[in-house]
Amino acid sequence: MIISGVFSLTIRITKLFSMNLKFPTLISTVAAVLFANSVYAQEAPKYDYVEAFKPFFYSQTGTETRSASGQPGHAYWQNSADYNLNVSLNDAKNEITGTAEITYTNNSPDKMGFLWLQLDQNLFEKDSRGNALVPISGSRNGAKGETFDGGYKIKSVKFNGKDVKYTVTDTRMQIDLPQELKAKGGVAKVKIEYSFLSPQYGSDRMGIQDTKNGKIFTIAQWYPRMCVYDDVLGWNTMPYLGASEFYLEYGDITANITVPSNHYVVASGELLNEKEVYSKEESNRWSQARNSDKTIMIRPESEIGKNNASGTKTWKFKISQTRDFAWASSPAFILDAAKINLPSGKKSLAISAYPSESAGEKAWGRSTEYTKAAIEHYSEKWYEYTYPAATNVAGNEGGMEYPGIVFCHMDSKGEELWGVTDHEFGHNWFPMIVGSNERLFAWMDEGFNTFINELSTEAFNKGEYYSKKNVAQMGNYLMSDQFEPIMVGPDNMKENSIGVLAYYKPGLGMGVLRESILGPEKFDKAFKTYIERWAFKHPTPWDFFHTMENVSGEELNWFWRGWFINKWKIDQAVKNVKYINGDFTSGAQITVENLGQLPMPTTVQIKFKDNTEQIVKLPVEIWKRNTEWTFRLNSTKEIVEVKLDPKSEIPDVNPTNNLWSSADAKPMEKINIKDFTGTFANKEIGLKLTFKEKDNQLFGQASGQQEFPLEYAGNSTFKFEQAEISLTYSSDKKTVTFTQGGREFKFIKE
Ligand SMILES: [Zn+2]
Repeated sequence: MIISGVFSLTIRITKLFSMNLKFPTLISTVAAVLFANSVYAQEAPKYDYVEAFKPFFYSQTGTETRSASGQPGHAYWQNSADYNLNVSLNDAKNEITGTAEITYTNNSPDKMGFLWLQLDQNLFEKDSRGNALVPISGSRNGAKGETFDGGYKIKSVKFNGKDVKYTVTDTRMQIDLPQELKAKGGVAKVKIEYSFLSPQYGSDRMGIQDTKNGKIFTIAQWYPRMCVYDDVLGWNTMPYLGASEFYLEYGDITANITVPSNHYVVASGELLNEKEVYSKEESNRWSQARNSDKTIMIRPESEIGKNNASGTKTWKFKISQTRDFAWASSPAFILDAAKINLPSGKKSLAISAYPSESAGEKAWGRSTEYTKAAIEHYSEKWYEYTYPAATNVAGNEGGMEYPGIVFCHMDSKGEELWGVTDHEFGHNWFPMIVGSNERLFAWMDEGFNTFINELSTEAFNKGEYYSKKNVAQMGNYLMSDQFEPIMVGPDNMKENSIGVLAYYKPGLGMGVLRESILGPEKFDKAFKTYIERWAFKHPTPWDFFHTMENVSGEELNWFWRGWFINKWKIDQAVKNVKYINGDFTSGAQITVENLGQLPMPTTVQIKFKDNTEQIVKLPVEIWKRNTEWTFRLNSTKEIVEVKLDPKSEIPDVNPTNNLWSSADAKPMEKINIKDFTGTFANKEIGLKLTFKEKDNQLFGQASGQQEFPLEYAGNSTFKFEQAEISLTYSSDKKTVTFTQGGREFKFIKE
């Protein structure tokens, strides 16, 4: 799905930065947040390296069903649900009437005394829980205040051919079984007769759009669907409240869709009776499109309204290995299509269905080109597309995904239409192929999808709509205190947080993991493995975390903990830059510090006066036992600037402290280390201190004790910071004052 605000919000945030802060008034609230946050970014959150890296991140070890390596376990099981759906549309009444025959297979090791089904249309009943949650200020969820008789009318429920007891509670139906369903292979046949009135605006996921040539019906959440029974929660029965999406079993679906004869129907899967529903000429154009990389018009605008046949037609579709089925029907559709080339050599078909209001090269005239490009890119990069068609339908949804078909807004154009088309088809990988639990973990589909969209947009038509983001500057907004943690479900966060927490922040986190933590090669291998392992299965966040660590070979608990589970902030800083003995020809010591709770690998760019530069990469492990870190730079040139994260790839709540420039330097006189060597004594305490020069550095040693290194700090003073020792020489270098823990001792040169 797309968050109408969010997608554009993210685009707008991006633009905000690329436009040098010349932002439109639309986003002034965002801007206010951005700038307000820079105030409390100053109050430093404390970095605790034990907390960041502590052991026992995983709450349990591997099980028979889920291996600690992140793969499905040796005894992994999953139930399946096949559907045979017959449905008819009354376009005058907006009524859907249907029969769902469900074949449910219980592969679990448990017997079942009852079944749970999802009745998502009941969200649109007046007294639904979802409606009760709509605030006075309004919501995108629900039916936008439309008054109508929404929700299912259930006519009958049969189990193995006989009427059976069932109970409906809000969006769920429980069927009590007359005899228990066997474990490991028991099959239940359920048949439900139902009808409902479609909302005009169905929580931005289905609905009815008026156009000058008739209504467009975009129909989803329309038949009773099995709840998932899994090894994590047993039955997953959380109600559909509007904000959080779906968790569904896989299976094969056939659908016979009866609509007025002048309608055209597009749907998930493959059309089985093309010859019965299309004219001979239209059929010829389909054949042409199946072999064409260029978009072929199937039903041009000029032919709309010419079909005045009365009565009805039945359109037959079939889709295999799917978790859902959606369709659209309208007399107003322009239809066009082109071939999709898949890596294995197989072909699929990109199809667009839109009204004449949406036509034209600046708008939906390019929809099929966008669809083809997105599917080809994702197939090549991650996992091959498995459905015979991919259809983009213009409706009144901002953007919503279903297997093999998506609904995008009919007013979308240009960059926005690319963005929403690419996003909704990206969902074919998450959650259509990788079937995670969207109701609980929206970030596992929206976030992963937002991440792959970035790469797809970069690749599309040589970057036609791509602009690189300044990730660093977004840290302040993404990690601001107003948001809940990513791991929280969409029903458990403010509606306004969903855009950032389900989409943008996890998406960006994946980008950071790829570009700055693992590197693209390791990341892509691990992420691809995750997709392959869990294709058409039900992974949890832990399966994802385990897989990424096992395949990449890197410990990442600190990242999962900080970015996904907690809302830790990233704030790294350059603390100090000092020349060795005040002399740049001797090299420098650079101190960086980790201020935020979430550590990161640190990239340091050093620019010299002669316009050359050097990059130093510090692994995240330096932060496993330090809150600040000093390293020696072997250089002979004067430094003009030291900068962390020079490519702005890591979000940082306070980027201003990432920079040190020579203007910040405390002037320090050049010294000759040999002038400070020798043995000094304090007779009262009976102690001698000996100072030696080694490799242009001063070392001190008290009689009978270990040698310690000393750093020159200017004004004839040397320090050993770890022990809080400070030594100040007199101007004639004959005495040295030793300070530790607030106590001073004078030593005289021998
Ligand atoms: Zn989405």
